[in-house]
Amino acid sequence: MISSFEKDKLPQGYYSQTGTVLQRRDSSGEGQSLLLFLRDMGPVWVSAPASKTKCRFGGATEPLVWAEFSLYQSPSRLYLQGAQIREDFISLRSSAEKLKTALRLYKRLTSVLLTSHESNNILTLLWSAMILLKENCPADIVEYRFTWRLLKETGLAPSLQYCVKCGAKLESGAIWTRDGLICSSCSASGREDIGREELSCLRFAAMLSHDKFIGWSKGREKSSLFIGQLKKLVTFFTDMD
Ligand SMILES: [Zn+2]
Repeated sequence: MISSFEKDKLPQGYYSQTGTVLQRRDSSGEGQSLLLFLRDMGPVWVSAPASKTKCRFGGATEPLVWAEFSLYQSPSRLYLQGAQIREDFISLRSSAEKLKTALRLYKRLTSVLLTSHESNNILTLLWSAMILLKENCPADIVEYRFTWRLLKETGLAPSLQYCVKCGAKLESGAIWTRDGLICSSCSASGREDIGREELSCLRFAAMLSHDKFIGWSKGREKSSLFIGQLKKLVTFFTDMD
């Protein structure tokens, strides 16, 4: 979990990098502390000093905004010097469902990141999910996709292809256990609670490329399948504690 405020390994000097604002904390008199998630740098806490903050950075210190951030590493702290907004995702704020989904993606991602670790794959994953929400793809399917792929990046995603017990290919349907999906031969009841069609929907949602996902997901009615499966996926994060 992210706890350290200062990034001590960065040599003194100026930096410029694209990324997004994960969190913002206002501290009275001292301005703001921002947790930025930056390309090649991973998540870093930066100080955005008071008084000039508002006019200097404008909307670039809002969570969900993507910008090119200019930074200065002093001997003691990393300071925000300026920001050029690249994408403010303002359209997501006009839909409560999209906004809540985006905030959940940010929260879930923040809980798995380590400071000072480059995490470009995860940054790209977040960018892709934000674009999919902006493109009006169904929010529940986008959230399922993002969550499964985030688990995959951290090595925890349950397989959608193979039985977790015997390794057999899941040809028809599957049964959920707390370890992941199993085949009907490994199940005591033998009753599959995810049918063949549903399993193939989950695979498409999780594994299609960004562009193909847009076309595939748009034709889809909102489904309780993804909401139910998301609840199960999320337990793979909490089980780490
Ligand atoms: Zn099996």
